Amino acid sequence: MALPPLMPLDEAREKLLKELPRLCEVESLPTYSCAGRVLAEDVVAPINVPPAPNSSMDGYAVAFADLDGSELPVSQRIPAGHVSQPLQPGTAARIFTGAELPEGADTIVIQEDAEVTDSGAIRVVEKPKQGEWVRPAGMDLKQGATILTAGSRLSSAAIGVCASMGLTHLRVYKPLRVALITTGDELVEPGEPLGPGKIYNSNIQMIGTLLEQAGFEWVRIPRVADDRSATITALKSAVAKADAVLTIGGVSVGEEDHVKAAIESLGTLNLWRIRLKPGKPFAAAEINGTPIFSLPGNPMSSLVTFSLLARPCLMHLQGARLKLPLSLPLAAGFSRAAQKRDEYVRVAVVDGVARTLVSQNSGVLSSALTADGLLHLPAFEDIEEGKPYSFMPFASLLHD
Ligand code: AMP
Ligand code: MG
Repeated sequence: MALPPLMPLDEAREKLLKELPRLCEVESLPTYSCAGRVLAEDVVAPINVPPAPNSSMDGYAVAFADLDGSELPVSQRIPAGHVSQPLQPGTAARIFTGAELPEGADTIVIQEDAEVTDSGAIRVVEKPKQGEWVRPAGMDLKQGATILTAGSRLSSAAIGVCASMGLTHLRVYKPLRVALITTGDELVEPGEPLGPGKIYNSNIQMIGTLLEQAGFEWVRIPRVADDRSATITALKSAVAKADAVLTIGGVSVGEEDHVKAAIESLGTLNLWRIRLKPGKPFAAAEINGTPIFSLPGNPMSSLVTFSLLARPCLMHLQGARLKLPLSLPLAAGFSRAAQKRDEYVRVAVVDGVARTLVSQNSGVLSSALTADGLLHLPAFEDIEEGKPYSFMPFASLLHD
């Protein structure tokens, strides 16, 4: 039977994202508990941050117009958090970092630029510019401005920004529940004896970790043998337990690959085989409305297809806007004849160029430990040394 043509990665992702629904309900949580969650509504600043002009340095608050070379008596002292009196004309106010400026002051003389005279007045040795060292009201956030939009994933910085506006709670989506099925007669779990012909099931732990880091809840389905009816049983149980299902392995064209046929007997296959290396056998399907994503079992293929295809789709189901891993132009430190698939090669950044110092075998996961990230080599193009290609650092690919 003829195989379907290979679909380019971007086209596959676009097609899937267009067809997938949003699955999660909304809940309100304390701001502090929202890191990693997806915002369900825009956040509009209820106040200016800072609420009033304040000093960014220890020094003296003055009216710029009073800086004519004469000494200024010190008329009040304003520590951070304390209320000031209006500034008496022709005087300075001792002020500390974070304290609000008194009415009538518009500039700070930092204490290093002021000499205190015997009478306790100040002489300005270095005249500041008007408004210098003042943090105006709303410098960080303007009241009424949209600060974060629905669909963004909340970082620790976003939590800090929300807290700076005094927001006690945020409306976020409940976490998507993802069932994870690993297939293969050869798999045993760490802790079990490694009998002849067996290998440890590493993917369940790696992809489970990636699911957790992406903010999903995941359900472990017991490992499935390479058997059609066992695969069907596992898929049914996964669909009953979760909002979406990930399968790993058994989705290629071998006689022992049962995932595709099992899915087709229960639901609809939407897409199979991507013009991608590693990761060609990726599939996407649906069983009774539950989205299924099937990753090939070679660990590097699982990692790449999860990061570039499955995770963006799961994030969409979770309510998130599309955010692809950061990519930057990086010169190739090698050349290579054109190939028929887009390849994501593991490279190290050496002297500012990408070098393929590690094994590119999709069964070699340990090369992800020494490589810095993936370099995208487009299909059907001769790869030229010195030319820039898209580089995705593992720091972003694995942790975002
Ligand atoms: P498959 O996609 O099932 O054809 O598997 C491709 C390769 O990945 C085979 O060498 C499998 O032994 C290996 N593999 C499949 N699943 C896992 C897993 N969960 N953990 C580690 N290796 C796996
Ligand atoms: Mg297999």
